Amino acid sequence: MKVGIIGAGQLGRMLGEAGHPLGVQCRFLDPSEAPCAATTGEVVGAAFDDAEALAALAAWADVITYEFENVPVDAVRGLSVPVYPPPAALEVAQDRLAEKRFFQDHKVPVAPFAPVSSEAELAAAMVALGLPSILKTRRMGYDGKGQFVINDEGQGLGAWRALGEGPCILEKVVPFDRELSILSARRPSGEIVCWPLVENRHAGGILQWSEAPAAVGDDVQAEARSIATRVLEALDYVGVLAIELFDLGGHLFANEMAPRVHNSGHWSIEGSVTSQFENHLRAVLDLPLGDTAMAAPSGMLNLIGEEPPLHQLLSVPGARVHRYGKSPRPGRKLGHVSVIGSSPAEVRRRLHQLRAVVQGVES
Ligand code: AMP
Repeated sequence: MKVGIIGAGQLGRMLGEAGHPLGVQCRFLDPSEAPCAATTGEVVGAAFDDAEALAALAAWADVITYEFENVPVDAVRGLSVPVYPPPAALEVAQDRLAEKRFFQDHKVPVAPFAPVSSEAELAAAMVALGLPSILKTRRMGYDGKGQFVINDEGQGLGAWRALGEGPCILEKVVPFDRELSILSARRPSGEIVCWPLVENRHAGGILQWSEAPAAVGDDVQAEARSIATRVLEALDYVGVLAIELFDLGGHLFANEMAPRVHNSGHWSIEGSVTSQFENHLRAVLDLPLGDTAMAAPSGMLNLIGEEPPLHQLLSVPGARVHRYGKSPRPGRKLGHVSVIGSSPAEVRRRLHQLRAVVQGVES
């Protein structure tokens, strides 16, 4: 079985690693010079919209998938093999306005929002929604890039200009108790699995660490599963889907979705019976999906910008280190460390120890 993957970053690499024991071969398409998935499969060096290279990848593969959501939609339509997740999911996820409207249409609560494409619309939206609100570009935002919090009206114009005066969306700030994500997978026959909710901590818009399962009640878990199921079915989705959620007093608001494997699911390599990477491959190849039960309470810490010495990371009990082989750069995700423990409290202690190691590097 052969899977063609658009993008050869760390997500592609971990898909390739999950494919090995199953005898699933992965081949990647990526124009970058030192793609980190090269350790797990051949990388075709071509632009993401290179029609010839995409056609050749499709001719080799049984199915095409991708590891990032800014894949050019037109370039992947009409390939000779199925493209999963379906391009319709890409279209929704690439435009924050389409995404918010999609959630609303499927009765998934979202923060109040308004489209903004001029100074006049921004002024009206600030009045209508109230402040603080967040101005975000509709397209190409990730890891907190392409957005500004507006606390008073005077900041509005500066944010609008800094974002290039292009199509934006203004969103009311949700004073959430915690950020969560639900990871789920669906195969073509309609079988769906969900992992337990994950709690995520961001700084500067970048995921710092996750804990699974999130410390929420069964009703919140059930609501998240119901949201994921509605979204998967509405899109006739195939593959792993991540939905980021805000929890405000037990009520969930969807922030955004990622039609791919997701950083907040990395813990599942060690912490779940079946990882998100393996289930993504199983889903796109229409194989039975694996059990998503927790193998053990789990945590995950990203290594961002700099990597502490390996021996320090490995000195934390239960730590499993994943280094992506990327060169250091501020804000760049260079690896992650997973910890499992006998209880959530033990996982939290171990995450704390890991954070101390990482902060030692940063100071
Ligand atoms: P995003 O790029 O939409 O995932 O936003 C990055 C981070 O900004 C989120 O993980 C939240 O921490 C924060 N954020 C985004 N939108 C909102 C919102 N409407 N209310 C509160 N925080 C937000």
